[in-house]
Amino acid sequence: MNVAPTLLWFRQDLRLEDHPALQAAMNKGGAIIPVYIWSPEEEGEWALGGASKWWLHGSLSSLQKELHEAGLSLIIRRGSSIEVLNSIAAEVGADAIFWSRRYEPHAMERDAAIKAALRKSGFHPQSFNSSLLYEPWTISNRQQKPFQVFTPFWNHCTRFQEPDFPLPKPRTLTHHRYRNAIDSDSLDRLDLLPKCRWDSGLAECWKPGTTAAKEHLNDALQRVVASYIETRDYPAISGTSALSPYLHFGEISPRMIWHAVKQHIHGEAGEPFLRQLGWREFAHHLLYYFPHTPHQPLRSHFNAFAWNDDDKLLRKWQRGHTGYPIVDAGMRQLWSTGWMHNRVRMIVGSFLVKDLLLPWQRGAQWFWDTLVDADLANNTLGWQWVAGCGADAAPYFRIFNPVRQGEKFDENGIYVKQWLPELNDLPAQWIHKPWEAPEKLLRQAGVVLGETYPHPIVDHSQARERALQAFAAIKGVEK
Ligand SMILES: Cc1cc2nc3c(=O)[nH]c(=O)nc-3n(C[C@H](O)[C@H](O)[C@H](O)COP(=O)(O)OP(=O)(O)OC[C@H]3O[C@@H](n4cnc5c(N)ncnc54)[C@H](O)[C@@H]3O)c2cc1C
Repeated sequence: MNVAPTLLWFRQDLRLEDHPALQAAMNKGGAIIPVYIWSPEEEGEWALGGASKWWLHGSLSSLQKELHEAGLSLIIRRGSSIEVLNSIAAEVGADAIFWSRRYEPHAMERDAAIKAALRKSGFHPQSFNSSLLYEPWTISNRQQKPFQVFTPFWNHCTRFQEPDFPLPKPRTLTHHRYRNAIDSDSLDRLDLLPKCRWDSGLAECWKPGTTAAKEHLNDALQRVVASYIETRDYPAISGTSALSPYLHFGEISPRMIWHAVKQHIHGEAGEPFLRQLGWREFAHHLLYYFPHTPHQPLRSHFNAFAWNDDDKLLRKWQRGHTGYPIVDAGMRQLWSTGWMHNRVRMIVGSFLVKDLLLPWQRGAQWFWDTLVDADLANNTLGWQWVAGCGADAAPYFRIFNPVRQGEKFDENGIYVKQWLPELNDLPAQWIHKPWEAPEKLLRQAGVVLGETYPHPIVDHSQARERALQAFAAIKGVEK
């Protein structure tokens, strides 16, 4: 009997290994037609930023190659997802359309509408979990409510059940090849790469795609995971996995990481690293149950906070011209490489929100545009945590001191000097507070404050007092 073809709609699952939708299409039999649809309009305000578009280009190119080696061709189209799916399905006589689920509120709404429309047109649409260990609706607390504190959430998850083993990558898909030609746009015509080429730092730093994802995982297993607790907070050391963009675009799955860690790292030594995957799960859990949080604080009394929305200060922060070296180094690392160390994300975030009193949403927006791992769930959780207005957030009165943080986590100023070469000759004692260095020493190091490196744009201790007062003003309205 002839089995009708299946469309396999790729989105944030750009791999062939551990891909349940692909596995289901293979089990069904018949031709498999892999499709990628570029539809930024459907993402609304969360359309990909420049750095993410750069990543996507590399990632799609890697997927094309992988599919080609397995015997299939990726069909790329632009336009409305439902129209493209309907049109290709009708052209090839497909009866089924399979995809991996996404969890951003706008994507879930859109996918539900697409599913209903496809069903109405007589197709069989089916979605699968390929990017989470625990889908949000499978986890709730004793009162059948969402968790709002990480540790009980993660304890519950890890007691709940061991994540499934990852599915193998199919050796070949040639017997699922569709024999006729189907129109496809070229990847280059999606214009994902910037016209004015600012992306050389990204290209030096990253190789998108599944092969590089595996290399990062292997490196993490050999070098990072077992000593994660000791090294994770020091930005001058590559003591974290840098797997975040690969996880976001689905070039690797959390199940693959989970089981690789369990297999290679003995005893409990892998737990602190696996806990980070837990934070990613928690972020998705919160976004699913509190879909307003990319815009609004989870703790609603924060709506009354008197922000100081000042574009000039925002630009100084974005460009790394605040006069606080650890903050500026982080912002320049972000601009140059599309990534920033987690400790430094917390420091620059705290500085924006608490020292400058700028709304956290402005920081989140800048991260969205500049991070290669921009992820609505993780970014929202990170910014609400920093601002103190989200679930399980740092209390508002815990205000990071950028000098102390620098001295503690970049004692010798190695990280700062990597991103601020203008401070290269400043001794470590002054590297995090150049304004306190003796005049003669500054001269010897070639630093002229206000010229080669900015004066601090705010005085931290005054800014701290101002933030505490602003906090006190809304504390009274806390529910
Ligand atoms: C203000 C702010 C904004 C952030 N925005 C993003 C974002 O847009 N995208 C993003 O992926 N992460 C974001 N994070 C979380 C974290 O900084 C990054 O996931 C991490 O730095 C990525 O580096 P890594 O892959 O080496 O992490 P590792 O330490 O090696 O951790 C492994 C994986 O666990 C997950 N993870 C680790 N820490 C967190 C965390 N705190 N929250 C959620 N997941 C985590 C990531 O998927 C990461 O790749 C943000 C954090 C803050 C404070």
